[in-house]
Amino acid sequence: MRIQNLLELVKSYNETEVEIVKKAYDYAAYLHEGQTRQSGEPYIIHPLNVAYILAEMHADRDTLCAALLHDTLEDTNITKEDIAQNFNKTIANLVDGVTKISKLNTSSKTDLNMANTRKIILGLTTDVRIIIIKLADRLHNMRTLQYKTEFKQKENALETMEIFVPLAYYLGAYRIKQELEDLALQYLKPDVYQDIKEQKLKIEDSSKDCLQEMMGSLDEVLLKEEIKHEIKARTKNIYGIYKSLEKGQKLADIHDLLALKIMVENIKECYVTLGLVHSLYHPINSRFKDYIVSPKTNMYASLHTTVFGPNEKLVQTQIRTFDMDKIASFGLTTYWDLNKGEARGKMQEALKEKYQFFKSLQDINKMFTDNKEFVNQIKQELFTDKVYVYTTKGEILELPKGATVVDFAYKIHTFIGNTMIGALVNNELVPLNYVLQNKDCVRILTDELSFGPKDSWLEYAKTSNARKKIREFNRR
Ligand code: MN
Repeated sequence: MRIQNLLELVKSYNETEVEIVKKAYDYAAYLHEGQTRQSGEPYIIHPLNVAYILAEMHADRDTLCAALLHDTLEDTNITKEDIAQNFNKTIANLVDGVTKISKLNTSSKTDLNMANTRKIILGLTTDVRIIIIKLADRLHNMRTLQYKTEFKQKENALETMEIFVPLAYYLGAYRIKQELEDLALQYLKPDVYQDIKEQKLKIEDSSKDCLQEMMGSLDEVLLKEEIKHEIKARTKNIYGIYKSLEKGQKLADIHDLLALKIMVENIKECYVTLGLVHSLYHPINSRFKDYIVSPKTNMYASLHTTVFGPNEKLVQTQIRTFDMDKIASFGLTTYWDLNKGEARGKMQEALKEKYQFFKSLQDINKMFTDNKEFVNQIKQELFTDKVYVYTTKGEILELPKGATVVDFAYKIHTFIGNTMIGALVNNELVPLNYVLQNKDCVRILTDELSFGPKDSWLEYAKTSNARKKIREFNRR
């Protein structure tokens, strides 16, 4: 990796601001001069790679400069003010934000570390780009983990799984999430990783013909309908396969082990394409999902249908527009691409309005002043397994695993929770301690004359939000 690689990439989407990126590189290279990484390479290689990962997502100028300078406050003699003077205030704030959370260590339970964990999470609220730079930083560190001691490798891998993978998921940055997962598994369970990696290669080899044949047939029918499209094949990532096997599934039964992505130009064509896919290949009806009408809580949108391909092989087809495909790879950071220049405001706004986890995060932040309690609650409620259920309007709600209909009611609205008298799940009456399962469709029955939540409901409520609202009601 050389600076020329970065500059060429930046030039391809932002011709006017290559100069300042070059200036940030020169400054950082000068400041880090003489420092080396554990690999023996000059230190500047690291910030350069971090900036490159971000440029692949078409990051804006300030983010790229901050990425190049991200370790200068910690490892060299300059100050935040120096950066503000030489560049601008935003870049200085971004570097400062990244520096403040760099000493993070979640496996250690000291107060300082708890405070740092809180900072990383709250970095989202001041400027989400701090977290995105941090994700790129972590990704490059994970890519070069072989130079660290075995203890450090395991520690970093664990922390990556606990904090950075969920963050990448919540922001919808699937490409980063999947690479982080695979790298973490490689260090946490090297044998398992190798084994699945080999199996995956075998699968890819033995399914090549089947996928080629499908791509050819689909290409043909789409051309006949004059639908502009692109088709790509992909296999599930190693960690994804590991998770399915852990659940007791057999390799051959994993319904999305093999997938074809079909990208078209607009939503109408997505549904036409779906019809064409089903006319060629028999679908498994229970495996159809419409994430266009009901996007995932991290804004992922697509139609999913698993069909029987040639030789009875199960193949998932994912049908989406080209824009949806960008979101599927890069999540929130796609705003960089969609709003050249002033993406920051748009990103922060989208985070607030469209990403469900953000509200939960703020609720938890308000409720817990103690850092340790805050971090524990975040781990229990957000950085944990989740269930996804439907409202009667078809909206998807995200809740921690183990959540009940009480949590659901309060997630919709305080008033709904406070006047709840019962709940229907998939049209059947359930008790209030009913634990929600994926894909449940939930209707809350209310009565304005109800007595309100009982103290005993606290036992059913898993989320901080519901517990808080129940306590508030009963205090009155
Ligand atoms: Mn770094």
